[in-house]
Amino acid sequence: MKLTSLSPSTVTRCVNELINENYVVEVGTSEQNGKVGRKAISIKINPQSFQTLIVDVGAYNTNYAIGYADGTIEKLESSSTPEDFQEVLNEVDSLLRFYKNIEVVSFSIPGMVDVENDTILFVPSRGWKNIKIEISGKVVYADNEANLAMIAEAFQREEVRKSKCSVFVTVREGFGTGLWINGQIFRGPSFTAGEFGHTTINLYSDRVCQCGNNGCIDTYIPVSYVFGKQPRNIQKYFDEDWESSKKISEYIELLSRALANVVNSINPEYLIVGGELSGLNEAFYKFIEAKVKEHALEHAGKILKVLPPTFSNDTYLYGALYATIEDYFIPNVISKIK
Ligand SMILES: [Zn+2]
Repeated sequence: MKLTSLSPSTVTRCVNELINENYVVEVGTSEQNGKVGRKAISIKINPQSFQTLIVDVGAYNTNYAIGYADGTIEKLESSSTPEDFQEVLNEVDSLLRFYKNIEVVSFSIPGMVDVENDTILFVPSRGWKNIKIEISGKVVYADNEANLAMIAEAFQREEVRKSKCSVFVTVREGFGTGLWINGQIFRGPSFTAGEFGHTTINLYSDRVCQCGNNGCIDTYIPVSYVFGKQPRNIQKYFDEDWESSKKISEYIELLSRALANVVNSINPEYLIVGGELSGLNEAFYKFIEAKVKEHALEHAGKILKVLPPTFSNDTYLYGALYATIEDYFIPNVISKIK
């Protein structure tokens, strides 16, 4: 109440309605610094008041989790990402038969998504095109994984949330970005903004990309080219004398050039580099920041900070949960207490 301009009676009415609707629960009372009058009530969000089933469809594995109203997640299972998306939906159906209180099913997709129509537009690694996701009796939310990772960072870091422009880059088997511009995700009018992986870096390349062009960044940057197939431990390479490794030095040079292209195009204040590189140490990020600044335009590089992701694992799960809390749960709560 101290932080709002609402009258005490309005706050009391709102809190009572939240308690009646079971969105918050009382966790105790406390004296107000010796003041005479009512005791302060301590409340907390009831985690069970909203549950979403989160499906993180990765390039290799698909992870399932339950997300709760208080922003916590409970991991359920992980399995190989199938060739056919219908198999993911079949698994969702069987989980929904067991978890009865799910209101929303939230998907993190490694490709382009029409978020307004819950439609997967294109997942290059699987060849999935124009798949509308429909689940009987449930609200569906679906977004590109880099957008969700960017949303997770905006929730976790105030300076990022308040920035005019920040970018989350996922480096996995491709190079995707989530763009945070003026306080929201920028997806573009047909949901393909930020597809920097399809920037041509070699006109004469014989590497054909899934998008149909040749010489895209995505045909050079997959981490498996340098660090091997899964399971892999990329940190192991950086614990060694990696600067003397030609293969890794060349990869870092390519990565920093690709990141500098993003910086020159978008002019972010914060560039969060995640995906497979998420677990790497601070020294790596300092090195990458210096490299990117070396290649970026002077005025773009001057304000730039390169950061590791808040979550070294599970970024997409948290992003998918936060997005549904913001888009579905909070508006629902507000509509109930008006
Ligand atoms: Zn391409």
